[in-house]
Order: sequence, then C-alpha cells, then structure tokens
Amino acid sequence: MKPFQSPACARCAKALGKTCCEPSPHEHLAMVTRADIARIVAHTGLPARRFTQEEGVSEAGAADFEARWPLYRGYFRRGPVRTTLLARAGACVFLDRTRGCTLPMDVRPIACRLYPFDKWADGSWSLTVGRYGDLAVARAEGTACLAVEEAESMEDVLAAFGTTHEAVEALGAQLAEEARSHGRG
Ligand code: SF4
Ligand code: SF4
Repeated sequence: MKPFQSPACARCAKALGKTCCEPSPHEHLAMVTRADIARIVAHTGLPARRFTQEEGVSEAGAADFEARWPLYRGYFRRGPVRTTLLARAGACVFLDRTRGCTLPMDVRPIACRLYPFDKWADGSWSLTVGRYGDLAVARAEGTACLAVEEAESMEDVLAAFGTTHEAVEALGAQLAEEARSHGRG
C-alpha cells in the first residue's frame, strides 16, 4: 500500500510548511463515519477513542453542512455531533511525517481517500482547496495542496493522485451511503 496518495504528498510539507494531515489549531481533520471507524478498529486494534474526537455543532450548522456537502447528507440525522480524526502535536495520530499515512489505503477514512475532490451541492465535482498559482502565497494561506498547485487542470489533479473520474465517483457513492448509515444510528 502506498503511504502517500500522490508523489506531491511527500514534498508537500517542505513546499507548503504543512500537509492536509496537519491541522492548524482552529482546523479539524477529516470527518469519519462509523464504517470508517470500524475498518480502522479492525486493522489497528485500537479503540475509537484513541483516534477520534467528537464535536457538537449547532442544528443550523449541521443543516448547512449537509446542504453544502451532498456526500454527507444524513450524517447528522442522529444529532448535531460530528466525529473527526484526532490530532496530536499538530498532526493526525496516523501520520508518520517521513513515511506519510500509516494506514493502508483501503483502511483510510473515505474522506481522506477522496481529498482533495468533493461533490458540490449542484452535483458537480470540484476541489476542496483553491489553487493559488504561487507557492509562497499558497504557503502563507495555509490550506493549499501541493498536488493542486502543480496541476494545470482537473485531469492533471486526477493523474497526480493516480485516479479517474469514475473511481472518484465510486468513492463518493460509498461515502454518501456510509454517511447515511452513520446518521441512521
Ligand atoms: S495537501 Fe495535497 S499534496 Fe499535500 S499531503 Fe495533502 S493531498 Fe498530498
Ligand atoms: S488517516 Fe492518514 S490520510 Fe487521513 S488525515 Fe490521518 S494521516 Fe492523513
């Protein structure tokens, strides 16, 4: 299994100061579903409390989130609480800063496997991060993705991650189903 999702991931921290697996104090890591958690528990043997945290959000915030991100529709049906990966010392507990993610690709949360692709409310696919076109600006912004910065088009971004429109669609469909199941309790 490849620890980095794209060759750019191995160069990302040096070029941009940090990666998408290293949240700033005001940021949170990927939202996870109970299906994600079950796969990680089965692989690592860790209890969920060692790698997740829960955060309460307002009812309005939960509704806005589901309206904006269609792959998460139904996630908050049980209540306005989201579960995210846990960060320690500024990084996801599964990040090895030299080798990348220590989880095999098929065990990583779907949100991590999908990043930086996401589905918009109108059903189109786009990127969750902007492209700044200048590494110094991207670094200062703090939310950039090196693979996106180095790409000229969506096709380039897909190629950088070794994936296709179809594979991204399939992962999105899996996330949508698992988010609905998460909310059903
Ligand atoms: S921000 Fe982009 S290039 Fe950097 S580690 Fe994440 S996916 Fe890879
Ligand atoms: S599970 Fe892996 S890919 Fe996802 S945030 Fe953690 S280190 Fe990054």
